[in-house]
Amino acid sequence: MCGIVGILGSKPVATDLVDALRRLEYRGYDSAGIATVENGHLERRRAEGKLRNLETRLLSEPLSGHTGIGHTRWATHGRPTERNAHPHMTAAVSVVHNGIIENFRELRTELSAKGHTFETDTDTEAVVHLVTDEMQRGAGPVDAVKAALGKLRGAFALGIIFAGEDDLMIAARQGSPLAIGHGRGEMYLGSDAIALAPFTDAITYLEEGDWAVMRRAGVNVFNRDGEAVTRPQIKSIASSLLVDKGNHRHFMAKEIHEQPEVISHTLANYLDMANARVTIPDLGVDLAKISRVTISACGTAYYAGLVGKYWIERYARLPVEIDVASEMRYREAPLPEGGLALFVSQSGETADTL
Ligand code: GLU
Repeated sequence: MCGIVGILGSKPVATDLVDALRRLEYRGYDSAGIATVENGHLERRRAEGKLRNLETRLLSEPLSGHTGIGHTRWATHGRPTERNAHPHMTAAVSVVHNGIIENFRELRTELSAKGHTFETDTDTEAVVHLVTDEMQRGAGPVDAVKAALGKLRGAFALGIIFAGEDDLMIAARQGSPLAIGHGRGEMYLGSDAIALAPFTDAITYLEEGDWAVMRRAGVNVFNRDGEAVTRPQIKSIASSLLVDKGNHRHFMAKEIHEQPEVISHTLANYLDMANARVTIPDLGVDLAKISRVTISACGTAYYAGLVGKYWIERYARLPVEIDVASEMRYREAPLPEGGLALFVSQSGETADTL
């Protein structure tokens, strides 16, 4: 899973965008880029490989816009080249995207027939031309995005900026997480609160199907049906400590070495150490009545599930089945009444597990 950031700032945002992307590096990526509104028009810088390549590019060709979006890409459609790196854009619209647009081929064919020229191999570019097309037919940016969202299928998070619109950013979430950060006279967008930790701890998470119209003065959130909705603003605990590499060379090394501490923090919620008791919250399920357990997970979470199988069978004496989520989706496993299903995801949002 790759990263999205966005800033409606009070000063040039390029450096902060790259810093925010750096905080999302732990997710993995193959290329990176940013786009800003420069005196009314859109400009971008992109580079293959590590963020330092993008930084080098920005040193020789700086951007000074106060409104911008950034992206670390983990390619799904098209090779990991600079040409396919996000942001993608036309003269009117620039887009960063996480996830997959499933109907991109149909959209591409339709939009090409209308005269749009595609420059990349990505699914994302269909979104850019779709919004541009709506605008060419007279819609303002907000209505154009609203109409475009109705035509997109798949799982995605989007950040969008527009030429001539220095105080506007639109975000949309369908399947991939997105957080909006509230600053003083500034607004932020990020794949998670960690990316935004240096700027603000006042966070609003978009819910499934939400899209948001962000301006420096505030944000309006709408649901899938276009109705205005209120999403709570919370205080994030993603302090800078959580994302520092500390003394470790890599985030992976850090995560491995942090495991005892992290497990302790997690268990502490359920263990009363003083009285040597386990305190399980009310789950709304009578655990004594469960006849069997099915675990579904992908990758590392699948291995965690295997450990769970051993423990649950050994201590609870219940039969446990474990499935890789991508297989479970398509096979028709019997799930009789009285069974408990556990879905494990180590990244927070694994599409197949969801
Ligand atoms: N599907 C898009 C692409 O291949 C986005 C991939 C991503 O989430 O980084 O460019």
